[in-house]
Amino acid sequence: MSPCTLIVGAGLYGAACARELHDAGHRVHVIEQRPQPGGNCATRYVAEADCHEHLHGAHIFHTDSDRIWTWVNRFARFNGYVNRVKVRHGDALYSFPINLFTLYQVFGAKTPDEARAALARERQPIAEPANLEEHCLATVGPTLYRLFIEGYTRKQWGRHPSELPAEIIKRIPVRLDFNDNYFNDRWQGIPIGGYAAMFDRLLAGIRVDFGVDFLRDRDHWLARYDRVIYTGPIDAFFDHVHGRLEYRSLRFERELLPIADFQGNAVVNYTDAAVPYTRIVEHRHFDLPSPARNERASHTLITREYPAAGGAGAEPYYPVATAANQARFERYRALADELAPQVHFGGRLAEYRYYDMHQVIGAALAHVQRRLHGGCHRIDALTPSA
Ligand code: UDP
Repeated sequence: MSPCTLIVGAGLYGAACARELHDAGHRVHVIEQRPQPGGNCATRYVAEADCHEHLHGAHIFHTDSDRIWTWVNRFARFNGYVNRVKVRHGDALYSFPINLFTLYQVFGAKTPDEARAALARERQPIAEPANLEEHCLATVGPTLYRLFIEGYTRKQWGRHPSELPAEIIKRIPVRLDFNDNYFNDRWQGIPIGGYAAMFDRLLAGIRVDFGVDFLRDRDHWLARYDRVIYTGPIDAFFDHVHGRLEYRSLRFERELLPIADFQGNAVVNYTDAAVPYTRIVEHRHFDLPSPARNERASHTLITREYPAAGGAGAEPYYPVATAANQARFERYRALADELAPQVHFGGRLAEYRYYDMHQVIGAALAHVQRRLHGGCHRIDALTPSA
């Protein structure tokens, strides 16, 4: 019988590895600290509001890769939801990400040429932008930067944009047409039945034990299994011997309101520094309800998202990509190679990377491919295949 692999964490990375290894005839045992699978993608159905609640923040699946889209469609039917965010700043509402309609709202531009001219007037001549603020000033100029980026980013990351790398913002497009899709990828949607249904299929036939804290009995588990895939925070695995890796956390304030529709959209960003939360999510809109279903609902569920400091006791959500944090992570990676060669460290927390879901899947599939074809199973600086 093949040796059994222990997989620590039933989030997307752990579940994808479990599925692939299981389907290749390997035995796997998944342990998960939380009471349900799905990691931060987890959803649950809320009958009062007739919607799937995204328990740890909105998760919209998107990818440009046919391979990853085909793979994930084995476990879910996607509903065709397209993320079209609105921004609230003060009393005003804007289309977002920045597109021709936004440029009309802010500068009165009515055509791509007028929009291009408006941006050319706004842009500041910064030859080599050194941080997020300079990148924005050089690409969209101060008016749009102050309206949409500065306040939100400061709240989200707890630092001024001049102290953050530009990479954080480069994922958001700026367009000169009316396309207000938040993502550029060809494929996008939310699983019908929520991520809970998708993870049920992903983990079908696989042994998963919930409510198990690996780190509390780490040595016991490492002694029992020759091969381990660990998807938790890498610094916690090593008892923070090199200090804590910095994360931003989130606090969610949910409210069940006795009305049918609160904001008419799934996501409204609050970019104003004076408002303490960054966005309000209204969950039913992710399910693409028919107008009739939406109007006859007796309640709607909303969640306000408050950024919070990470650290002991706080859920780690976003790795903070500063040079100091990256250097600390490299020290943990060296420790992993030296002390835990039987453990593969993968996923957002173990690789300390701001992964999207499709990138997590790409990295997990790449890992299993390497392992099945004789590659090593140590920590790898994976470049997720798109
Ligand atoms: N951002 C911003 N204003 C917005 C939305 C995003 O300044 O209205 C910046 C902010 O720094 C954020 C980054 O863009 O951290 C990436 O945003 P995204 O929506 O992709 O973040 P996520 O959904 O992963 O929290």
